[in-house]
Amino acid sequence: MASRSKSRNAPQGPSPFAVEADALPEGKFTDPDITADGSPRAQVPLLELETLWLCTGTLCNLACATCYIESSPTNDALIYLTADHAARYFDEIERDGWSTREIGFTGGEPFMNPHFMAMLKDALSRGFEVLVLSNAMKPMRRHEAKLLALREAYGDKLTIRVSLDHHTKPVHEGERGSNSWDAAIGGLRWLSDNGFRIAVAGRLLPGEGMVEAREGYAALFERETIRIDAHDPSRCVLFPEMDADKDVAEITTACWDILGKSPADIMCATSRMVVHRKGEPAPRVVACTLIPYDREFDFGETLAEANVAVKLNHPHCARFCVLGGASCSA
Ligand code: SF4
Ligand code: SF4
Repeated sequence: MASRSKSRNAPQGPSPFAVEADALPEGKFTDPDITADGSPRAQVPLLELETLWLCTGTLCNLACATCYIESSPTNDALIYLTADHAARYFDEIERDGWSTREIGFTGGEPFMNPHFMAMLKDALSRGFEVLVLSNAMKPMRRHEAKLLALREAYGDKLTIRVSLDHHTKPVHEGERGSNSWDAAIGGLRWLSDNGFRIAVAGRLLPGEGMVEAREGYAALFERETIRIDAHDPSRCVLFPEMDADKDVAEITTACWDILGKSPADIMCATSRMVVHRKGEPAPRVVACTLIPYDREFDFGETLAEANVAVKLNHPHCARFCVLGGASCSA
């Protein structure tokens, strides 16, 4: 993968969201079928393709300290998806009768992709609900007129979810770099003032409770007159931490009963993501938004090929999805 070169305003210090845990010991998350202690590893079948994510490319105007996909202004490990490639997947959904409700666009920063507005319009015009993950900064603001037209035509079918890592400026900028707060708040306020369906994605600091965090976001939204109910978990999504290098328990088939969870609750039971890696002739379908580079989670070029069970052989499966209970969809 291309190395990340930092943007001018990239954060200098360690991430305020750094995971506090020992290093991941050798031997864990190696065999796709068996955990380090010899137990059968948990799997998640694809029950329904409710959400298809399209990664528009890794290029981003920011270089956040712990960006899970390692985006930056220079990392094009995942190249820009084209509108034609996106349309192939929309066609496949329609042709094969997948019951897909939602198309999610993520990056990088989707609005930096020159083909993005075309694929956004295509998805909406085919009747999908659309969720766009954006940092709401300059790249998005360049498309205000077109976005207003889409809002006029498709209303609440379009949701824009803005990453606001924390409800305080110093923590947000500790992760995202200096000068990232005011622009994000400005973009969020523009979306709110213009009647877009919006949501915010944030994170919990180590030791910060959910109640405390939601109160912090509620006070911020009131102060900035942003129309989001911070107590609605689908509109103010707060994610657990991820760090593939830190120790975490592996998930075995026995864990479902022990934890009172079902494979059906896990994100890859109902979603897949399309990525186009640099140097490859066509996009590929991977298990989920969190693991774009690992070949073990790459299922082929078509949705039909990706209709297989996912073996939970990655630390993100454990920390973020099963133990953290998180999903990228609103
Ligand atoms: S804005 Fe999002 S995609 Fe861009 S570097 Fe930050 S976390 Fe990564
Ligand atoms: S990280 Fe991805 S593959 Fe692993 S459990 Fe979560 S959604 Fe599934």
